[in-house]
Parts: sequence; structure tokens; C-alpha cells
Amino acid sequence: MKLQLPLIYFFGLVPNKYLPCWPVYIVGDNTKNLTFKVLLDDPKMVEVEIEEFCVAEDDSEARRQYITSSLKIRLHQKSFRERVLNAYKEQCSICRLRHRELLEAAHILPDKHPLGEPVVSNGLALCKLHHAAYDRNILGISPDLHIQIRKDVLEEIDGPILIHGLQDFQGTKIFTPRSSYLKPNPAFLEERFKIFTEAH
Ligand SMILES: [Zn+2]
Repeated sequence: MKLQLPLIYFFGLVPNKYLPCWPVYIVGDNTKNLTFKVLLDDPKMVEVEIEEFCVAEDDSEARRQYITSSLKIRLHQKSFRERVLNAYKEQCSICRLRHRELLEAAHILPDKHPLGEPVVSNGLALCKLHHAAYDRNILGISPDLHIQIRKDVLEEIDGPILIHGLQDFQGTKIFTPRSSYLKPNPAFLEERFKIFTEAH
């Protein structure tokens, strides 16, 4: 901290998986509870406009604070995906598709909802098709984990993707993690299901 040497911080996303962030600097040392404060100082690590900070004055502390808090938000979102995919053993909870590149972590209660936090119990691992269908209320998941397809989509006549990708899942149960603390929170599902049923 005294020498202000640049360091690398390995941010833990999930056990055994880290995201390296650099350069970071130690800017505070709390000898009471044995913690220290780290700030990141590379604007390239985060896609943020920091020009105004640089032009205004050379206040590196404020600049680092800003970059660090922007990175924290990104790391939080990135680790949400990792944590959810891990909990669901890297498969879509509706169709069990296992292609990691096609999987996403869906929020049960959206980001902007007061309870829409990036925690696993507010998440579902879904493939891109089912994530989009869930977000757009084409399909809903009831608090007892059953899939409901929107009525007009269920009655629609189209090719095999509509049949096997959506209609066939009507009334089936989603796959969830075994540990109860990783399972979707029934209160969140209920609140979200209300939004689905009210949407049409
Ligand atoms: Zn799927």
C-alpha cells in the first residue's frame, strides 16, 4: 500500500473459477478486522466513460472508486450466470439442453423489480429460446414448477420448433437443483407467474 504497487486481484466467480482484474491498488488497511480495500485502475476493464473524471482533475482516488464500482456491478452479473449455470449443472431447466454457449441465467423477478437480485434462488438456467419465451411471457412457470404455454401459442399451428420447442412442454415440470437454498424461491415464482397470467 505504501509503495502503491500495481497488483492483480483474482475475483472468485464460483469455486475454482476466477476473473483476474488488474491493475489494482491497495488503498486502505483495516487492522481491526484484518481486511483491506482494493481499487481497480484500468478503465479498459469496464466499459465506462471516465473522460470527465480525467479532464476535471487528476483525482485518482475518485477515478478508481468509479471504475471499481462499475466493475463490481459487472462482476455481480457475470458471477450470477456462473452461479446459476453451476447450480443447474449446465442445462436448461426446461429442455435440458447442455450447450453452455446457448445457456443463460434468467432472472425470475426482473432486475428492476425491488426483489430482483442476482441470487441463485431468483434465477433459472435457460437456453436462449426458453429465456426469451419466459421474458416475453410466452411461457410461464407456476410456483409448483409446472410450465404453462400462453394459450394462443399453444393453439397455433406451425412447424416442429413450435411443437417440440414450446407446445410439448405444456404442463411438464422444470428441472431444479437438489439443494433447497439453490432452488427457485416459490414466492418469487408466484410473483412472476402473476405477471405472466396478467400479461394476456
Ligand atoms: Zn431450453
